[in-house]
Amino acid sequence: TRVLGIETSCDETAAAVVEDGRRVLASVIATQADLHRKYGGVVPEVASRQHLENIVPTLREALAQAGVDLGGIDLVAATAGPGLVGTLLVGVSAAKAIAFALGVPLVGVNHLQGHIYANFLRPDPPEFPLVCLVVSGGHTDLVYMAGHGEMELLGRTRDDAAGEAFDKVARLLGLPYPGGPHLERLARDGDPGAVPMPRPWLEGSYDFSFSGLKTAVLYMVRDEPERHRREDIAAAFQAAVVEVLATKAVRAARERGVRTLLLAGGVAANQALRQAVEERAAPLGIRVLYPPPALCTDNAAMIAAAGYHVWRHGGRVDGLDLAVDPNLGILEG
Ligand code: ATP
Ligand code: MG
Ligand code: FE
Repeated sequence: TRVLGIETSCDETAAAVVEDGRRVLASVIATQADLHRKYGGVVPEVASRQHLENIVPTLREALAQAGVDLGGIDLVAATAGPGLVGTLLVGVSAAKAIAFALGVPLVGVNHLQGHIYANFLRPDPPEFPLVCLVVSGGHTDLVYMAGHGEMELLGRTRDDAAGEAFDKVARLLGLPYPGGPHLERLARDGDPGAVPMPRPWLEGSYDFSFSGLKTAVLYMVRDEPERHRREDIAAAFQAAVVEVLATKAVRAARERGVRTLLLAGGVAANQALRQAVEERAAPLGIRVLYPPPALCTDNAAMIAAAGYHVWRHGGRVDGLDLAVDPNLGILEG
């Protein structure tokens, strides 16, 4: 089964062709990061207009790279939420038109489930039951999965998402948007022990809270700008986020008795996080999986993979009345 995936939830116009939910034939991403950089974040109206310009060339390129023409597509999957309403509509409308013209099924995909399914784009897909830590720009969710479509929410952030915290702290340190990868690079030259940083444990729960770390950094750079090196602040902030995320994710995997722990979302590209999770999981015999960096951040291959499983195992097909939902939760859809 060849799935055409379409992703337009934020500032990446992406199209991909994926076979049987696991083999990536093509994955094309037109990013608008340069366009939004001067505003320090994504401007929804600007993003929608850019998606309209990018969507057809991006789809053409994905098909060309895959060496497949539209007639070789068996299923169309597009992100239906969460995300920006105007940008989601561009991708979903394109998907409807293509599915209708080809007479093939259409599936609306939950973007956050898409991030999880980036982990299935490999020859030896993860085995259930599993625990997955989804750490993206807008979400931080810890979920248990008994099987495809059988999800339980264990915990989530009560304020900022992990990626959002990285981006806000990066901005305070004068780094360009999106700041996560820049902050990770800066942190490599820093000493995490040189700067005091709180650990928001929220004892006894699987929930997270990262806004206090951002405030701690704000006070440091505002009130005592000469006191600490930027590298050390970056390293201390990253160490705090990573320690809390890794500890809770591995504790959840242990307490739920699973042998597989997945990392997903843009922050899963962070080397320090990957390493911290692996170090804690290895002695417990828990296998840790994460996608390659290009499949951690937004892409359409993950949407095609999730769409394939929704259709194959969930038996769901959407009609041309498929609606977008900017606020879709990770368990919905
Ligand atoms: P959501 O998926 O919640 O709608 P999003 O799609 O904007 O949000 P993603 O594309 O999954 O988020 O991830 C982008 C986020 O990941 C940004 O906040 C970015 O800074 C962060 N990120 C990317 N690489 C790294 C890294 N190496 N270290 C830390 N953060 C990173
Ligand atoms: Mg993005
Ligand atoms: Fe995302």
